[in-house]
Amino acid sequence: MKKDNIFTNIITKKIKVDLLYQDELVTAFYDLNPQAPVHVLIVPNILIPTVNHITTNDEIILGRLFVVAAKIAKRKNIHASGYRLIVNCNHHSGQEIYHLHMHLLGGKPLGPLLQQE
Ligand code: 5GP
Repeated sequence: MKKDNIFTNIITKKIKVDLLYQDELVTAFYDLNPQAPVHVLIVPNILIPTVNHITTNDEIILGRLFVVAAKIAKRKNIHASGYRLIVNCNHHSGQEIYHLHMHLLGGKPLGPLLQQE
């Protein structure tokens, strides 16, 4: 498995972007191609390629993703109107970057969960 990817380079600041949040476990930054007025990615600092690679050792990191999502939603003032958290896994979900990440989407009504056929 490749050890670095675009998100690793953002986390380690090899690529400079505006970080919305960073601590010892997770990092948050804006999605390059936003799908909603607020579209933030929250990612573990260590490489976990997909949900399938999660182990019990990762439970604290995964909890932190939610804590930080709620914090950013409040900071962006979308906590009351609501938002959606998405984690894609493998090709049927459309996962593009094989470094587990949570999408935080909000700022407008988001419509149905799945695209209507
Ligand atoms: P996925 O489809 O893997 O769940 O989501 C990957 C997301 O990463 C996409 O929404 C895409 O727009 C975003 N993305 C891809 N490359 C970059 C990048 O270089 N910088 C940032 N900030 N986001 C990226």
